Amino acid sequence: MNYLLVIAIFAIIICVWFAWRYYRLRREVNEFSRRVRTQNVSNEIKELENLSSALTSLLSTFNLEHSTLESERARLATVLEQITDGVLIADAQGIIQFANPAAGKLFQASEPTHRSVVEVLRHHQLVEAWRRCQQTRQLQSESVELPTRHQYLQLVVIPDQHSSGSLLLVQDLTRIRRLETVRRDFVSNLSHELRTPLASLKALTETLQDGALEDPPAAHRFIDHIQIEVDALTQMVNELLELSRIESGQLSLDRTLVAPHDLLSSAAKRMSLQAERAGLRLHVDCSDDLPKVNIDFQRLEQVLVNLIHNAVKFTRAGGEIDLLAEAGIGEVRFAVRDTGVGIPEEAVSRIFERFYRVDKSRTGSGTGLGLSIAKHSVEAHGGKIWAESVERQGSTFTFTIPTI
Ligand code: ADP
Repeated sequence: MNYLLVIAIFAIIICVWFAWRYYRLRREVNEFSRRVRTQNVSNEIKELENLSSALTSLLSTFNLEHSTLESERARLATVLEQITDGVLIADAQGIIQFANPAAGKLFQASEPTHRSVVEVLRHHQLVEAWRRCQQTRQLQSESVELPTRHQYLQLVVIPDQHSSGSLLLVQDLTRIRRLETVRRDFVSNLSHELRTPLASLKALTETLQDGALEDPPAAHRFIDHIQIEVDALTQMVNELLELSRIESGQLSLDRTLVAPHDLLSSAAKRMSLQAERAGLRLHVDCSDDLPKVNIDFQRLEQVLVNLIHNAVKFTRAGGEIDLLAEAGIGEVRFAVRDTGVGIPEEAVSRIFERFYRVDKSRTGSGTGLGLSIAKHSVEAHGGKIWAESVERQGSTFTFTIPTI
């Protein structure tokens, strides 16, 4: 009996406990559905949505910045790859961590990276500049001439603010130095060339003033001489103007289609009297059926006239001058060949320089500008000009004009 009572009480307790759990669960579910219905949860959802969209926009900003950085990096890499200045980055121990292709070329080092600054720079002044920068942490610069490499380099060493290494910038100033030398030589040559006729004009006029005027035959001789000097000066000034116009890129070509034979004949006609007076035979050797060339007739005729004029000047009476033209591959070759004094081997490569004259005592008159003008005129047509010569046997000046 007691036993049954205990079981009944236990069953009642279990039922009550289940009823109570059921009641609690219902309350929680109701509460939850009430909260879902009210704004509380929808606010939380909204916050989650806001958070998610903030994360999305953060991600897209990050992506954008990453791709901007990537393209900046690619642009910088292209610049470093293409610039003609050398760029080297060295660490505190002087080991090169980065070198652009120009740096490798300037220092003639195939792979400068991971090598030491001393090994790559290979010049004590340049290495010293790098050492000074490492010690003082201040910008240093140094210019050096490397005669064995025919180079003139300028090095700027900048301390790297983010590490204890340095950034080395190298500029090749070889071309600028060469241009400076050419300019300096030009000014000194020009002053010299002007001074000679001017001194002679001064002497002639002084002699006239000092009494030669009273002696008409002598006065005539002096005035003739003055005329010659003034003509030489005028020719020099004209040629200089022409040269400066050509060199400043103001050379415009008035092209027409011309048969090579017509060009040679026309130049020969202009110079025939001069050649005859000098006792020289002037001969045109050119077939009629050569391809026509598209040229500025006057300009190339002037080139030929200059070459013939030189041939006349440098060939003794009884000699010969031949004007030749022949077809080459995609070009016509023109040549002026003489049997004159010739040009020393070491001078052949220099005669196209401004003012260069082999031996001033050989010629008397002449400015040394004619061949450099001829070179410019031929090159403006896309051609080339050169000379071949054997001393005491003669010279041949050849130039090419493209036919296509
Ligand atoms: P120039 O006014 O002195 O003739 P160019 O520039 O025409 O100036 O020629 C430069 C120099 O080249 C001449 O002074 C001369 O020494 C040399 N030269 C040119 N043509 C000939 C030639 N046909 N024979 C020998 N030397 C020449």
